[in-house]
Amino acid sequence: MVPKYRSGKSSADVPEIASTPLWSFFSHVTCHFTGIRRSGGPRPTQGETVVPDIFAYERDPRLTRLETTVVRSGGEEGRSYVVLEDTILYPEGGGQPADRGTIDSIEVCDVQRVSGEVRHFLAPQRVTVPRGGDLITVELAWGRRFDHMQQHTGQHLLTAIAEATFGWATTAFHLGERISDIELDTSDVRAEQLEELEEAVAAEIRAARPITTKQVSPDEYGLMPVRSRGLPSGHAGSVRLVEIDGIDLNTCGGTHLSSTAELEGLKLLGTESVRGGARLFYVAGVRLRRLHAAHHARNAELRSLFGASDDELVAAAAAKLEQLRESQRTLRSIEDNLATACAAGLAQRVEPVLISHWPGRDLSFLQRVAREVGRLAPDRVVLLTAGEGESGAFLIGAGEASPCDVPEVGPQVAEVLGGRGGGSGRFFQGRATALSRLEEAASLLG
Ligand SMILES: [Zn+2]
Repeated sequence: MVPKYRSGKSSADVPEIASTPLWSFFSHVTCHFTGIRRSGGPRPTQGETVVPDIFAYERDPRLTRLETTVVRSGGEEGRSYVVLEDTILYPEGGGQPADRGTIDSIEVCDVQRVSGEVRHFLAPQRVTVPRGGDLITVELAWGRRFDHMQQHTGQHLLTAIAEATFGWATTAFHLGERISDIELDTSDVRAEQLEELEEAVAAEIRAARPITTKQVSPDEYGLMPVRSRGLPSGHAGSVRLVEIDGIDLNTCGGTHLSSTAELEGLKLLGTESVRGGARLFYVAGVRLRRLHAAHHARNAELRSLFGASDDELVAAAAAKLEQLRESQRTLRSIEDNLATACAAGLAQRVEPVLISHWPGRDLSFLQRVAREVGRLAPDRVVLLTAGEGESGAFLIGAGEASPCDVPEVGPQVAEVLGGRGGGSGRFFQGRATALSRLEEAASLLG
């Protein structure tokens, strides 16, 4: 049986947005050939082909500090942004989230590629936004970036081995807040295949295979055995390739580790069906250790709560749940007996409108009492309430022989009791906020 990834009640682990098709990584490969002149490069003249260059985060994904110049500043939907000559901050793309960092100590809360330029969106602060020509310092939030490099490079390795071993093509990638996933073009994934895949990935992590990137011309690209879904239409200029030595050669514009060893480890978490294929969940690197630490801490709390060892926890929890269900059955039986007794007491009274209040009970209890009174004294009408203080539930119930027009007086009673309700036929029920007006409400019933 294939392990299904179960998120339980929490949706935090499950991607809320659609995964990104892998070829979208190309979208920013093309962007380097439009618009902004890179620092150190020749300024293009009108109509001249811009010589492609690469951003600092591509040249050296470990660069955490960069001095550069502001090209221009602007605003978009109330957010200020700056465009820089060069940047170490990765703009969101290809399933990899945008980096975080600072520009002259101003927090960068988002980085997006728009119309061929990289916009660094600044957190709202009472400071002056840098302007075109300003020399500034960009700093990268390295912990977050390295985590993204681990998850993203893990995707490359996982995709390559899944395809080589089982012929499963990866159609999409999503780097989540807590776990990541790839979508495979197969709906037939067996548990032993996942074990084999995870073992193969682990072997390549132990092998510490070098990972490199390079730019090649379209002609060179055409002659190379690149695993790719093809470049986007209209692509011009060089192509960026990432290579895991001996494993994979792929087109990609993301940030990567320099060796598979830096992945530390990669754990498959299970699959779920999606659009005729399978979504495969995984976690890699530092996240894997943190996830394990969180599970371990949670288990420690559960061991203490249940007084059981790790191996006994599920059985202990199941036993407690069964005890709870048994207690609920017993309680319901006792409440039935109590409702029957209360109804018998009410039915012995002589007045036509029977009223009663029970602190600590609920609407379900009132319904049981009303049904039993209707059976014992069908010529009577009851107004029953339950709750603490002024707040609680109310119920009007009229027996078969009672002349009370429940649908007519129900809303009036509800109004006196400061609540709202509904019903049909011989019952009307709802919430109340003025239970002390019970006698006044009862006077409406006859
Ligand atoms: Zn990549």
